[in-house]
Amino acid sequence: MAQEKHHQIVIIGGGTGGIMTAAQLLRKRKSLDIAIIEPSDKHYYQPAWTLVGAGTYSWEKTIRPEASVMPKQVTWIKDYATAIEPDENYVDTQSSGKITYDYLVAAPGIQIDLDGIEGLKEAMGTHNVCSNYVDPNYTWELLQEFKGGNAIFTQPTTPIKCGGAPQKIMYLFADYVRKNNMADKTNILFATPGSVIFGVEEFANTLLQVVDRYNISLKLFSAPVKIDGPNRKVYFKHMGDSAEQSKTTSPDGNRFEENMVEEGLVEMPYDFLHLAPPQSAPDFVKHSKIAHQEGPSKGWINVNINTLKHNEYDNVFALGDAAALPTAKTGAAIRKQAPVLVENLLHTIDNDKKFNEGYSGYSSCPLVTGYGKMLLAEFDYENKPMSDPLLKRLMNIFKEHWRMWILKKYGLPYLYWNMMMKGRM
Ligand SMILES: Cc1cc2nc3c(=O)[nH]c(=O)nc-3n(C[C@H](O)[C@H](O)[C@H](O)COP(=O)(O)OP(=O)(O)OC[C@H]3O[C@@H](n4cnc5c(N)ncnc54)[C@H](O)[C@@H]3O)c2cc1C
Repeated sequence: MAQEKHHQIVIIGGGTGGIMTAAQLLRKRKSLDIAIIEPSDKHYYQPAWTLVGAGTYSWEKTIRPEASVMPKQVTWIKDYATAIEPDENYVDTQSSGKITYDYLVAAPGIQIDLDGIEGLKEAMGTHNVCSNYVDPNYTWELLQEFKGGNAIFTQPTTPIKCGGAPQKIMYLFADYVRKNNMADKTNILFATPGSVIFGVEEFANTLLQVVDRYNISLKLFSAPVKIDGPNRKVYFKHMGDSAEQSKTTSPDGNRFEENMVEEGLVEMPYDFLHLAPPQSAPDFVKHSKIAHQEGPSKGWINVNINTLKHNEYDNVFALGDAAALPTAKTGAAIRKQAPVLVENLLHTIDNDKKFNEGYSGYSSCPLVTGYGKMLLAEFDYENKPMSDPLLKRLMNIFKEHWRMWILKKYGLPYLYWNMMMKGRM
């Protein structure tokens, strides 16, 4: 039988949020006893997966050994957390037994739910169905094999990590098709259950110009609900009040065949299908008391959206994709969440009753709009643009720019591995 182990601070997840938190805590206070529960021996820089899917970044460069990012003073429990018992201050694990704690930081990321769409699990990775969320190498393989036809890009009804990723790969695809003289025989469609292409109006206006430039068709209020891989068909359910709202709109007239299978359900043939699959908080989080038990945030970790401290358990904190924070789930958001969480955790340890309420929902989405072009959308809980003052001085932040592409492809990965993972920013 595995023995019970105790640590002052237990962090679940050694991904972006878990490592940033541990590194920043130790920079502030070397004496802390921190354990990270993390099963994987690889750490992934997921933001570059968009570029991998478009053949402009190497997959290998997005992976480093987990041991290389794990701060030296941390005890690494190489295992899966399987349950959280906040009333008894312990985390259960698959094979290391119960790990008890004084303070818990939950950063286990998000779960990809391939069974959330009928036929998706069977079709993914075959039948011209790909996802940068699952295997960006396959996206690139399919892109190179593409010879024209219908290319469909979708967004699910659930929250997802990096809400812009489903359209970034589409713009790269469109640019690739154009550069390879296939634009005339290609129909590109973006389908989303939402009512707009992007939540922040100023950036959405620029994206609509990009959509026009690539002659992309839009299908709003439409959620993918079924995939028939062998027959290369995808089914969309109307999400709006009327079928009219889900109608496909194209800059030069609708070139997509749409078959109404039944009221509110249409079938479309595809030759290339990219999905952002449905996503949710990991099951062991959903089933624990630290998750919201009811309401629209059900299943996500119930933290105060400004302090990142749990709303019911004073010794529990959370950040990153699994936390119920009404902003875009990105690594960039975590960069602003981690210092607030760290400060509040140290205040709690010191019992000094102070609180930093400073996290205002900052997130950012590097919207790659072609090879060599990017629009950096930075915003807060109120969907107000919140751009870096220095960047604002250097360029018009509402426009695409090649400098932003350089930032995405070279600057941000450098900052991630050398600064963020080391707790330096
Ligand atoms: C295609 C794509 C494009 C993206 N683009 C961008 C971008 O351009 N900019 C940006 O800022 N962000 C982007 N993101 C999002 C970003 O990668 C995530 O928001 C960020 O990594 C979330 O950090 P996290 O710590 O919450 O989760 P993760 O970094 O995913 O880490 C979660 C960790 O928990 C571990 N874990 C899982 N289950 C358990 C368990 N049971 N027990 C213990 N540990 C467990 C995992 O192994 C993992 O190491 C993108 C993501 C994808 C997939």
